[in-house]
Amino acid sequence: MEGNEKIKDHKVDLGILGGTGLYEIEGLTDIKEIPLETPFGAPSEVYILGELEGKRVAFLSRHGQGHRILPSEINYRANIYGFKMLEAERVISVSAVGSLKEEIKPQDIVFADQFFDRTRRKNTFFGEGIAAHISFADPVCPSLSEVLYTAGKDLGLRVHKGGTYICIDGPAFSARAESNIYRSWGCHVIGMTSATEAKLCREAEICYATMNLVSDYDVWHVEEEPVSVEIILENLRQNIHQAKAIIKKALSILPEQREDQCECGLAMENIVVTKPELIPGETKEKLRLILKKYLKS
Ligand SMILES: [Zn+2]
Repeated sequence: MEGNEKIKDHKVDLGILGGTGLYEIEGLTDIKEIPLETPFGAPSEVYILGELEGKRVAFLSRHGQGHRILPSEINYRANIYGFKMLEAERVISVSAVGSLKEEIKPQDIVFADQFFDRTRRKNTFFGEGIAAHISFADPVCPSLSEVLYTAGKDLGLRVHKGGTYICIDGPAFSARAESNIYRSWGCHVIGMTSATEAKLCREAEICYATMNLVSDYDVWHVEEEPVSVEIILENLRQNIHQAKAIIKKALSILPEQREDQCECGLAMENIVVTKPELIPGETKEKLRLILKKYLKS
């Protein structure tokens, strides 16, 4: 973990995970690039640390600079563990989604608060001799999500509070039959990343909220042209600056302390089911940052 010792000087107030179209945050001052190596491997990119609205933030591009990592190739565990190393207690995730509802239009922004996870990828820090089961009934931080929604509303943007995000592996977009079935299930938006990040943030006791930029109507909408990368990128170009404005505004109204606001910081309390003496030393070491409050040795 060469270079990781230096991170003690870089405790951040907020992590930002940028997705398609969001590869940087303007207006950061006192910028430092921090490459991290985690017990779960290398994150997607170096973390860009800086100051914005008087708060310390760390930005990470989940697809890497130049967008070279597919949703199911992302090392989600390393990305989230990196934020834990930087002591970020809150992470805002920005991701492009397709709309599954008529009333959620391209270029709108949805703050999803539920997930339907159809992915088959690694979505836990546990295993290798330790079992734990987080509560995921309410998967996003209500307080952080509310801050973002309020920021969007104050800016006069078309924002939607709550909704179900169906998460698929991709990289292909849905077949029309799949899209219609997801609609019949009551899902609001479809994407490829957010459910995985939400699970890992809960395990890491990090507040997580997701800001979903609607790039298209997915393929169910018969009047629309079928979704293409070109349409998606054009719509994203239009609303990416709105996302940046929301982040800036949210930072200015974010409460200093998260205690009293939510219970994300206690997510791991009493949920490890493995007898402590049976947890392999190597596994314990890998999970040290996550479990140090709870394991005596
Ligand atoms: Zn929280």
